[in-house]
Amino acid sequence: MFTKDDILRFETLETPFYFYNLEILEQTLKIITEVSSRYNYHVHYAFKANTNDHVLKLIQEYGLGADCVSGNEVKKALDYSFSKEKVVFAGVGKSDKEINLALDHDIFSFNCESIQELEVINELAEVKQKTARIALRINPNVMANTHRYITTGLEENKFGISQWELEAVVEKLEKLNNLELIGLHFHIGSQITDLTAFKSLCIRVNEIQEWFQNRNIPLKHINVGGGLGVDYHNPDENTIPDFETFFKIFDDFLELMPHQELHFELGRSVVAQCGALISKVLYIKNGVKTDFAILDAGMTELLRPALYQAYHKIESLTSKAKEQQKYDVVGPICESSDCFGKAIEIPKIQRGDLLAIRSAGAYGEVMALNYNLRDDVKAYYK
Ligand SMILES: *Cc1c(COP(=O)(O)O)cnc(C)c1O
Repeated sequence: MFTKDDILRFETLETPFYFYNLEILEQTLKIITEVSSRYNYHVHYAFKANTNDHVLKLIQEYGLGADCVSGNEVKKALDYSFSKEKVVFAGVGKSDKEINLALDHDIFSFNCESIQELEVINELAEVKQKTARIALRINPNVMANTHRYITTGLEENKFGISQWELEAVVEKLEKLNNLELIGLHFHIGSQITDLTAFKSLCIRVNEIQEWFQNRNIPLKHINVGGGLGVDYHNPDENTIPDFETFFKIFDDFLELMPHQELHFELGRSVVAQCGALISKVLYIKNGVKTDFAILDAGMTELLRPALYQAYHKIESLTSKAKEQQKYDVVGPICESSDCFGKAIEIPKIQRGDLLAIRSAGAYGEVMALNYNLRDDVKAYYK
């Protein structure tokens, strides 16, 4: 990920900062587009994972669509020349303003998450004398075997329409004349590494498809969301997620009707491994069990460890020490959860050494905060 020259350059830059290796992003995009086009699958990039300018530009160049979860993401997708025919808009709480914006731009599809939302989109579309294309986001009640905060496809989660509501939804849709039902949408969670969860999803989608088929309701598009995980422990060995196996699962187990088109919404698996957070050691402080390495980056730059105990590999870039030592690697923010890792074993470090917090390209820079009146975090590229 880093050459000697990269590290020499880092030593001249003010820390902390994000570093994006756009070559890695490009290799990842090449594989995604190559494998998905083999099956004629559509891939939308999940904007919420990373909306850095350089990152978006490259993703747009590879022709991916945009999966948005806010009006501002829709706007940004259009500003960055993502084709409006490839913009989908999901989210349990779309505001009227956001819906109106998406209607004005004639996006490809609203992924709708409740009956009331259908009514509101219909109403707003009627005012504009438009027909909104919608897909029903159905909660398939499939276990994603991931952290409970990033599980979305269980009935206890707030996302999607439950299967027991479908009868009422279909009845309702008959009365909503400014909506056109174009398909179904699913998204079961994020950082899914046990790929059998996707097989379970396929089987559930087949059942749900049958339900619609029995009622003669045509569905042109099936969108199975995202969620493919990355290897946070071995970012150098597994830089590019296994897209071959991922897409093949859907080819093997999902029963598409003739002329049905399959869509994906990938976020983390596209961008996680191309990014790192580079930080300087401010202080080493003796602790009871392990010493503390206090960094100039904290939860304000990378929230995932504090938010859901996420693991990120931490590497020393500049230490010349031969001996290894264990550190609790923490940030400067006044919160005990501001900790990147406990008892992390790395070569002995001292004040001024640079550390890299790896696999930070997804849900990193986008979640940066100014809490404690922190500076905005900067980014550099190669
Ligand atoms: C977040 C999200 C995604 C992307 O998830 P990843 O795990 O980053 O691939 C896809 N679809 C929807 C609806 C989402 O909310």
